[in-house]
Amino acid sequence: MTDINIEDFEIKEFNTIIIGSGAAGLNCAIHLVDEGIDHSKIAIITEKLGGGTSFNSGSDKQTYYKVSLIGDQLDSPVEMANDLCARGAMHGDIALIEATNSIREFFHLVQLGVPFPHDQFGGFVGYKTDNDPKQRATSIGPFTSQKMGKCLLKEVQKKDIVIFDNHYALNILVDNTKKRSEAIGVICIKTDELASEKNLENIINSIKIFKARNIIMATGGPAALYKHSVYPESQRGSLGLAIKAGCKLQNLTESQFGLASIKFRWNVSGSYQQVIPRYVSIDKNGNEIEFLEKYFPSFHQLSKAIFLKGYQWPFNAERIENFGSSLIDLAVYYETEILDNKVYLDFTQNPVNYEETMLDPITIEYLSNSNALASTPLDRLKLLNPKAIQLYIENGIDISKEYLQIAVCNQHLNGGISGDIWWETNIKHLFAIGETNGSHGIYRPGGSALNSGQVGGLRAAQKIGNVYMKMESLNRDEFLQLIAPELSLIIKNINSVLFKKSLMNIDQMAPPQFWETIQDRMSKFGGIIRPVKDLFEEGKNVIKQIYNLNTLLILQNNNEIIEYLRIRDALLTQQYILESILNFHESNGKSRGSYLIIRDKLNESFNERYVIPPGDLIQFKFIMSDNILKGEIQTIQSQAGIIKFEWEKVRDIPNEFGWFENIWKDFTNGSIFQ
Ligand SMILES: Cc1cc2nc3c(=O)[nH]c(=O)nc-3n(C[C@H](O)[C@H](O)[C@H](O)COP(=O)(O)OP(=O)(O)OC[C@H]3O[C@@H](n4cnc5c(N)ncnc54)[C@H](O)[C@@H]3O)c2cc1C
Repeated sequence: MTDINIEDFEIKEFNTIIIGSGAAGLNCAIHLVDEGIDHSKIAIITEKLGGGTSFNSGSDKQTYYKVSLIGDQLDSPVEMANDLCARGAMHGDIALIEATNSIREFFHLVQLGVPFPHDQFGGFVGYKTDNDPKQRATSIGPFTSQKMGKCLLKEVQKKDIVIFDNHYALNILVDNTKKRSEAIGVICIKTDELASEKNLENIINSIKIFKARNIIMATGGPAALYKHSVYPESQRGSLGLAIKAGCKLQNLTESQFGLASIKFRWNVSGSYQQVIPRYVSIDKNGNEIEFLEKYFPSFHQLSKAIFLKGYQWPFNAERIENFGSSLIDLAVYYETEILDNKVYLDFTQNPVNYEETMLDPITIEYLSNSNALASTPLDRLKLLNPKAIQLYIENGIDISKEYLQIAVCNQHLNGGISGDIWWETNIKHLFAIGETNGSHGIYRPGGSALNSGQVGGLRAAQKIGNVYMKMESLNRDEFLQLIAPELSLIIKNINSVLFKKSLMNIDQMAPPQFWETIQDRMSKFGGIIRPVKDLFEEGKNVIKQIYNLNTLLILQNNNEIIEYLRIRDALLTQQYILESILNFHESNGKSRGSYLIIRDKLNESFNERYVIPPGDLIQFKFIMSDNILKGEIQTIQSQAGIIKFEWEKVRDIPNEFGWFENIWKDFTNGSIFQ
């Protein structure tokens, strides 16, 4: 192996490094400058500028959530905080901060040019989104987050903040000699410098080291874990970075799933459902059936569920009974995952037994108010929302001629890294903002993810600007001494995975096969169906793969090193998610949020009962109970190499807001930031 001399590495130094260039990371960079950090002391490191979820995903009406601001509508930060955490497992103080600062961050975006609609009086109109009793939601159309990203990027460039593009962060450097561990830097690989053959020296040359007083993780959600996903392909996720650094994580059981098209990844929510399309399943022999009618007693009830799916997009354990809209997702899951069929939406014909007079009154009213009553789903869609058809045409799918393939897809992780009220993690000087921060609870109102990402960036910048603004930390020698072992280990690992021999007696895999095993495992144990059976054993398989990764993975060239690092990250993340799910089972957790809990025995002390879905879906009979665990948050952290769980009591929404003169003094002397 090539000898390395740490003195040969260039070390770039900044006050704050932000990893990730999505809406959360970019916004934070702007606020850091506003908080007084010189632009030359801030850097953004990113795998791909323009990649990630914010820049590449959207939906029928992509939503931003904030306190209601129009007309005589009564609202307040406390009311919004109540709604953010009403359904459980979210801290009240964090909810209050997200609600209070939603106004400031919303207007920040307006100032930067995001064209949120307002009326002739300047009132920002709103609508109701899921889990929202008011009309706090707003949108600029299907690409709200993309426009946010573009406006924020323009401002970052205007402020002359340096962006290190094509930099994959593989290690957050931590000084564990302190009483409370501190983040001190980041190790990256410059991906566009990797050679197309195997060459260790080239890898060593592509390693870039950054020293920083503060590090902000804005790396988005763990998007590559599931086979069926509506995250953009450019988003992979890096929760493993935080796990390796020693972060505490929370609510890893709480992911969101829903129906989406898979050739072009897009949620089939809103108008795609409101026009009552036909759901068909095609088996390997080409036989086609309309499978939904097996589970609903009448066309009336089926069409009502399809219509409601438009609003009730995420799969929801509470919407299965009484022919609720999530029964559709369950039936689609059965077709694709159990029967291995392909499922499609057909807009060219009505569902079997379709009769306009049999539609539910809400559907009729909605379609007739929208002047969209017509003879086929396609004709109704042309009248209701022609852009919805155009969007698919622009992405190579003509739904007036062909079926649209769909599946139950992973969309969001409500949990993630634990942060305090400044979004700082248990590691000092390490912050986590955006989707990588796990501030949300079991349910979240649509649009609250984008708000939370903006608020988190503001809060981290405020703490840094007021408390952590000085550069002084370790000197160069101290830094080099601390990071040398880490760097050697990285190079040793890369060398061993790259230059090993193929072994006949071990199942070695190329990256695509490895991803398949990771994703199959998530579908089986971490999707909408969560059986306890075999989960413990599967967890052991994950650990084996983590330990033996260097032997198991076959790489052809240097470019694939990034796949190795991503797989390592995904395995660690998977280990934490599956361990969290197992711990949830062991804590007698019930079905909630976007998943069904499946266990063979009922525990009567928690009033557990089975819910039995109709027909073949009986195999998904799942547990409901009184044990909602909504007053607690499950946290997971590795301590001395052992994974520890704690169920933290949810903190209440603060209800004392201080006396003006006193707060003014504390604000002026900076003590509110401590
Ligand atoms: C289909 C879809 C629809 C959605 N609709 C809504 C909605 O209506 N309302 C709402 O509030 N939310 C919605 N969301 C969620 C919301 O869009 C995301 O939570 C949000 O955009 C995440 O922003 P972010 O800045 O945290 O991460 P991202 O925008 O994903 O950015 C992450 C960044 O980190 C970079 N990165 C990751 N790992 C590394 C690494 N190791 N090294 C360097 N760089 C790295 C990536 O390249 C990227 O630049 C939706 C999500 C999806 C998928």
